[in-house]
Amino acid sequence: MSLNFCVLASGSSGNCSIIWTDKTAALVDLGCSSRYLLENLDILKIPSKNLEVVFLTHAHMDHISASGLNFIIKNNVPICTHDNVLKDISKKYGDKVKRCLNMPFSKSFEFKDLVIESFDVHHKDRNVSRTLGFTFSHYLDRKEYKIGYVTDTGKICGKIINNLINSNILVIESNYNRMMLDSSFRSYDNKIWVLSDFGHLSNEDAAIAVCKIKKVSTKEDSLKYVYLAHISHHHNTADLAIKTVKEILSENNIKNINLLSTKRKQKSQAIRIK
Ligand SMILES: [Zn+2]
Repeated sequence: MSLNFCVLASGSSGNCSIIWTDKTAALVDLGCSSRYLLENLDILKIPSKNLEVVFLTHAHMDHISASGLNFIIKNNVPICTHDNVLKDISKKYGDKVKRCLNMPFSKSFEFKDLVIESFDVHHKDRNVSRTLGFTFSHYLDRKEYKIGYVTDTGKICGKIINNLINSNILVIESNYNRMMLDSSFRSYDNKIWVLSDFGHLSNEDAAIAVCKIKKVSTKEDSLKYVYLAHISHHHNTADLAIKTVKEILSENNIKNINLLSTKRKQKSQAIRIK
């Protein structure tokens, strides 16, 4: 019996993570190509037929790509997400979305040996009306192990912190370094959106959120692994994100966290619990 997790790809060119247990395998987002997904499933020795559901956070193309959608339709893998997210995806991909199987979605439900909670995060624009965060819990020897998943949010509010309390594994975006964003070639409007409450989190924002979650968590092994995700190719680097978060954790006397970076086109370190 085990709970396993790996970020397969993370960043503006595609986001996809996988959770697998002895009973099921589920993706969170499918913004990479189906070829890239299949290559990585092969490396992890997970047969693609084991994929039973894709949980979608939102409709941006780096979270559900055309190739990813084709894979979902061809392999009859159900999508599980809020109706508003499905509507956003339909606006982008049209009638094709009607050919997807939909798994009933609610704020909290069980699927095989996973308990899933969803909650709203702060990430919107003219194409995206709603973005979700998730937690995935799994019981091993009657003990709960939890994965918290929040990428793409302009701010971390108290409700999000509450949802992420006691996560053993946390995936949180650490999108930009402020100085690099200011001097990047992106348009003024795009920068304003990235910085807004509906855009993305800076390295400092991510670090402060990790400190807050750790401080309110009651379990000793909370936040044992923290993946810094959605690191911008244009206005951040993995080294800078890790360095900044490490410094802020140290200033706040937060210990026993393994910080892991994620890459755009390379899977991260996989974590196996038990
Ligand atoms: Zn997005």
